[in-house]
Amino acid sequence: MSGPETLLGHLAARIRAEGPLSVETYMAEALLHPRWGYYATRDPLGAGGDFITAPEVSQVFGELIGLWCVDLWQRMGAPDPVILAELGPGRGTLLADALRAARIVPAFARARRLHLVELSQVLRAAQAETLGHAEPIWHDDLSSLPPGPLLLIANEFVDALPVRQFERGKDAWHERRVGLAPDGALTFTLDPAPEAAALPSAGAGSLCEIRPAAEALARALGVRLGVSGGAALVIDYGYWPSACGDTLQAVRRHRPHGVLDAPGDADLTAHVDFAAFAAAAQRSGARVWGPVAQGDFLRALGIEARAAALSAHATEAQQAAIRTACRRLIDPAAMGRLFKALALTHAACPPPAGFESVAA
Ligand code: SAH
Repeated sequence: MSGPETLLGHLAARIRAEGPLSVETYMAEALLHPRWGYYATRDPLGAGGDFITAPEVSQVFGELIGLWCVDLWQRMGAPDPVILAELGPGRGTLLADALRAARIVPAFARARRLHLVELSQVLRAAQAETLGHAEPIWHDDLSSLPPGPLLLIANEFVDALPVRQFERGKDAWHERRVGLAPDGALTFTLDPAPEAAALPSAGAGSLCEIRPAAEALARALGVRLGVSGGAALVIDYGYWPSACGDTLQAVRRHRPHGVLDAPGDADLTAHVDFAAFAAAAQRSGARVWGPVAQGDFLRALGIEARAAALSAHATEAQQAAIRTACRRLIDPAAMGRLFKALALTHAACPPPAGFESVAA
């Protein structure tokens, strides 16, 4: 029996009252319910947690992104102040490494104002530990960022935004929903009413995902960059061009888990449709760069030279660890190809580093 004092109990009560929930609502509740949500209740990152991200794999990742910011800031005319923002900063590791690397340009260190968009109180506390010295200001979403030129980073943020899922029936799309089985367990159901949303043509049985929150974010960034100037760097795992497919997945302790099996106790993500994200940003006026494969992006930023410099004063064991970590970030069989970098900029912004090869 699940009482209302668990997320499952809360979801069951909602389903009894409202009928089956969209996958989008399920995902949002599982990740962000203020009391029982996955991110609300824990720091999931690292070897002892559920999953690991690029900044936790190697300090080089955040360092190179810090230099990416400094370089673009200088070529934007060194605006002072500049808003340096991150969406979903996790433990704050990426920005801690970025800010350390950026110290080579003291004028940037003086100009940057740090703003963190984070809903999890647990992770806000972790970020305060890592980044407190840099005087961050926290936000629930993008809308409260102060005006002015912006450099924004989002690493593995968009994959956590909720998706809606649709299944193609004989002659129409139907939304996939989360309902209750007779034994009280969560189960997928299909909304009998056809869906009016614009979905691609695909054969019966196809599954297609859309991510309204990502498109809203892309639109908001496009408008914001158009008004205030600057750039956003979005790195995540996903696909380009758009395609159908069920990419929703749950991970617990570094292992795949049933999507409905442990709401609030497993991470839930879905691959990012970079083409849909880019199109939404472009429609609201942003210039879009990429996506480029993470391996190519990091190589263009000089990951190999940075790894060699770190290794110069390291023990043999440390050198091996640096090599393994960097290979994990750039190897196409690891994170090098599935992960992609996409930049959005003001229309007049110079090409951001790492995207010169895709400059129109
Ligand atoms: N960027 C970090 C953490 C990635 S995990 C890294 O690369 O290590 C996803 C992060 O996004 C967490 O900090 C999580 O709490 C936050 N998050 C997820 N959905 C969010 C939302 N809708 N609004 C704000 N933060 C969110």
